[in-house]
Amino acid sequence: MAGKRVGILALQGAFLEHESAFKRCGAQTSLVRRAEQIKTLDALVIPGGESTAMGTLMTRFGLDQAIISKARAGMPVWGTCAGMILLAREVVASKQPTLGLMDIAVRRNAFGRQVDSFEAELVIEGIGITRGVFIRAPYVERVWGETKILCEYQEKIVMVEENNLLATSFHPELTETLDIQKYFLQKA
Ligand code: GLN
Repeated sequence: MAGKRVGILALQGAFLEHESAFKRCGAQTSLVRRAEQIKTLDALVIPGGESTAMGTLMTRFGLDQAIISKARAGMPVWGTCAGMILLAREVVASKQPTLGLMDIAVRRNAFGRQVDSFEAELVIEGIGITRGVFIRAPYVERVWGETKILCEYQEKIVMVEENNLLATSFHPELTETLDIQKYFLQKA
């Protein structure tokens, strides 16, 4: 896994934290802002931030089509928080643009305004126990097709996988452990 080139979409949001976590894993990283960069990558991370802004910028720069075709050809893509929303085929009660790559329906800001952000202990299938940081987090309301549920918290789906695609409602780049990064790199 060391030496793999992990691109981090750097249009907006929490991309620097992902960059530093993947550096600590020994991966090469590049901050991605242009469509031409996508073809040089072994894997891509779509960070947390504001999914409507990121989706609009992705479309404007032609990044959406570049990501969709490389992901369909098997490139691993991991979305955290807003990144999860951007991977979803369906966003409940919204018409915002997404990549539509994963067979999931996602609800935005789903844990309610009174719990804007929180931390919780999570048990993840195939990975084990980790702390999850949730910031105005979405959750997955429904999965279909080949999508597998890897973690639920308070009966809400917060981590899913569909072959080369991974999505988390929470922010593993904001905690010390690198278990989820390593799990993702194994796909590359
Ligand atoms: N609520 C944001 C959105 O809907 C996601 C929040 C985050 O990425 N931390 O885009």
